[in-house]
Amino acid sequence: MDTEDHKALREAVAALGNRHGRPHDTAQLWSEAGKLGYLGVNLPEEHGGGGGGISELSIVLEELGAAGCPLLMLIVSPAICGTVIARFGTDAQKQHWLPALADGSRLMAFGITEPDAGSNSHRITTTARKDGNDWILTGRKVFISGVDLADATLIVGRTEDARTGRLKPCLFIVPRDAPGFTRRPIDMELAAAEKQFELTLDDVRLPADALVGDEDAGLLQLFAGLNPERIMTAAFAIGMGRYALAKAVEYARDRQVWNTPIGAHQAIAHPLAQAHIDLELARLMMQKAAALYDAGDDMGAGEAANMAKYAAGEACVKAVDQAVHTLGGNGLTREFGLASLITASRVARIAPVSREMILNYVSHQTLGLPKSY
Ligand SMILES: Cc1cc2nc3c(=O)[nH]c(=O)nc-3n(C[C@H](O)[C@H](O)[C@H](O)COP(=O)(O)OP(=O)(O)OC[C@H]3O[C@@H](n4cnc5c(N)ncnc54)[C@H](O)[C@@H]3O)c2cc1C
Repeated sequence: MDTEDHKALREAVAALGNRHGRPHDTAQLWSEAGKLGYLGVNLPEEHGGGGGGISELSIVLEELGAAGCPLLMLIVSPAICGTVIARFGTDAQKQHWLPALADGSRLMAFGITEPDAGSNSHRITTTARKDGNDWILTGRKVFISGVDLADATLIVGRTEDARTGRLKPCLFIVPRDAPGFTRRPIDMELAAAEKQFELTLDDVRLPADALVGDEDAGLLQLFAGLNPERIMTAAFAIGMGRYALAKAVEYARDRQVWNTPIGAHQAIAHPLAQAHIDLELARLMMQKAAALYDAGDDMGAGEAANMAKYAAGEACVKAVDQAVHTLGGNGLTREFGLASLITASRVARIAPVSREMILNYVSHQTLGLPKSY
């Protein structure tokens, strides 16, 4: 449940979001939100942040989404990258990145997905090898958001364990213009300012301090960033679902083709009521996940963050679908602006971890059922 501080934050961010609305200038909104301190609410105060947690950052994203102007890069820059650097970075990395991520003057993208690994991140092959004090990174990534806008991308690679020969995950900060680091935009059917890229790392030479955190604790560090990512994707989905639902409700109150507004027909009203209930339930789960994460319970947060992402993704897809349907033909016009949300809402079902992979997680981890793969 929201505290008084949370309610105040919600109202203030909603006011900013409503000043921008849809369509909006993403760069302008990013910069304003940074100046107002919203981008770094989760980052430590001593490094220019607000000293809050993912509970607060998820409120920012949800409210901007509900106003029709979600900032996708909030999921990546302060939530994943900011969290990982704040928790595991060196003092120099913290000083260089955190104040700038918090005020929005620098942005960081995050790259884990690979063309041949997809949902199976154990299969990633981007490899880092030592050359003197430097690291040399080689590999490919796909669907990485905002690489053109970001000053650097936090790349998940692997290093070879000298004792076992096994590859273990490690995180590297790769500057946008590092030689050998190239990007190709992917032609997505998404109406969003943030583009997705295919990345090639061709013997990218990085200094020793490009490595974030401990070489031997990569997996733990990675999960510290992935739970916030799931919670923030839930916030993204809930915000979008609320936006679509509000548009549909407004329309259903006014539109009349018989002798009452269409919203009086239960065939229109009930699915909208269900969409509202589903979004509220998803938000409760998201708040639980955020509270566990902010309290330092990484394990407990993992299960709750997965469930919240699942519930929010499903609630968002259904809310958008019903909203478009409520507007009849107008649901598909550019003027009413809901049709493009049909594709956008599907992102929350696929990324950062698909609906099926969450069902697998709950089947195996929570219910103890055997694995098929
Ligand atoms: C808009 C957008 C932005 C993104 N941004 C980023 C980003 O910034 N950084 C980043 O690293 N990645 C990003 N991604 C990638 C995203 O995380 C992946 O698309 C996602 O993890 C799924 O991987 P995949 O697309 O390879 O699908 P696949 O793994 O090929 O899966 C395809 C289908 O098969 C199903 N499936 C796979 N394995 C199983 C199984 N064992 N059991 C049941 N079903 C299964 C999946 O659920 C899915 O429906 C983004 C994706 C999108 C669409």
